[in-house]
Amino acid sequence: MIPKTAQLFGDKVRAILLDWFETEGRSFPWRRSARRHQVIEKGKVIHDPYLILVSEVMLQQTQTSRVVEKLPEFLERFPTVEGLAKGSKADLLRAWQGMGYNNRVLRLKTAAEIVVRDYGGEFPDDLKSLRSLPGIGRYTASAILCFAFGQDVPVVDVNVSRVLSRIFFKCYSTEQRLREDDLYDLDEYLLPPGDGYCWHQGIMDFGAAICRARSPSCTHCPLNTVCLSARFPVNASLFDPGATRKSEPYFRDRPRRIWRGKIIELLRDATDGMRARDIIDKLEVGSQPFREKERFHLLTILSSLRNDGLIEVKGMIKEGELVEHDLLQLPE
Ligand code: SF4
Repeated sequence: MIPKTAQLFGDKVRAILLDWFETEGRSFPWRRSARRHQVIEKGKVIHDPYLILVSEVMLQQTQTSRVVEKLPEFLERFPTVEGLAKGSKADLLRAWQGMGYNNRVLRLKTAAEIVVRDYGGEFPDDLKSLRSLPGIGRYTASAILCFAFGQDVPVVDVNVSRVLSRIFFKCYSTEQRLREDDLYDLDEYLLPPGDGYCWHQGIMDFGAAICRARSPSCTHCPLNTVCLSARFPVNASLFDPGATRKSEPYFRDRPRRIWRGKIIELLRDATDGMRARDIIDKLEVGSQPFREKERFHLLTILSSLRNDGLIEVKGMIKEGELVEHDLLQLPE
């Protein structure tokens, strides 16, 4: 259902946001061929879908500044979908250094293999086929259709979700959002025909610069005369940091993902592999020695990495939990 507010002042919001993007939009390596504020011929390819896929997967869980730095290096090493499909897992994990959440790059490889095998290296340009690829959900598939193929489809990331919810509904805290399906409907209604690329990139930049998650800059916002939430106490004082913190297992005051990342980091440089016990010893640097129970816990983290295909036992593969004697390496 499209809210009355969108019907009443959707045109004004569109015009303000597109104007804002025209002057304030950011430059990124994945936007080099972007044409701002120009109507794009329907169905015209505006970016390489491979570039959009890799950049979107990187941006999912890594800071934008880090992606700006790493994307060109990664593309230099794996410039095409064919190259990515052929790359060894170990090389990919090395090229992913510093990005975190390493299983993303393995899913990228599997997706690339399918694109090469089933589509002759050409990315499909429909939502269903894209969503069937590993690691590609609703957002990433929509992003490829809009940002690569120039299709007018709704694309809802965290920024679009936040900005549209606040403008068209009364939000009483910085956390409130519309439901995802409603946001896709609203975004589809609002997006300007032929200009979906600038519309979405514009809202994303606006969400990062003005309508920020915790501290929206309502006073200086060009939309503050139409935004419903500008008149309500959307401010940092209402923000409850505990409300959004995802429950994540911790070990020695660090989230489990940090330990996983550190282990992959050690194995990246160990071309002949490393014994599990040596990995655990190296992880001890700068802290109290691990107790036996803690060493066992780290073995379970190593096992989870093996189960995710991010590390392998060199030589005989054993069932069950790893032991400290096992020789580990990045996958071939
Ligand atoms: S007025 Fe405030 S809440 Fe509304 S869009 Fe602008 S920054 Fe966001």
